[in-house]
Amino acid sequence: MPWTRADRSPLLKELCSRDTQRVRHAISDVRHTRDPELLAPLVDHLDLIRRRTRRLGAAATVGLDRALERIAFFRDGVCLCASYRRDSGFNPAKEAEHGHVRIVEEIPVVDDNGTAWPPVRVCACTGCGQAFDVHDREYHAPWWEWIARPEQQAECPDGD
Ligand SMILES: [Zn+2]
Repeated sequence: MPWTRADRSPLLKELCSRDTQRVRHAISDVRHTRDPELLAPLVDHLDLIRRRTRRLGAAATVGLDRALERIAFFRDGVCLCASYRRDSGFNPAKEAEHGHVRIVEEIPVVDDNGTAWPPVRVCACTGCGQAFDVHDREYHAPWWEWIARPEQQAECPDGD
């Protein structure tokens, strides 16, 4: 029975509340947490969440697909840094603050005209060690591009 579970998961309750503001906040929470206590109760309810949010406008459900994908990553035992490559909303400074990554290096960026741009931050996931080059981007609002460093991919079997 989904609703007995929902009582034990405030986040599930919020996601299913059909209230634009509450749903929006809950989506943001899911997109940024790594807390198993928050994510585990959501695992069996991906379809329910989808159904309950279906009639809300697009503005209320921005990022919903990314949030659901993150719950699936958690369910499948995939390190949650997998979201970085697919979701442009991760500020590396905040991720470091939450202990999700360590910023191991800052590489200065200077263009051909000598203009200094925000440095590329090299971040290492504290969960699996995957390293990323993180670029500051801006389009209407700031966003971040996380590019995995191939030589440090954990699941890259060597050809020989
Ligand atoms: Zn990781």
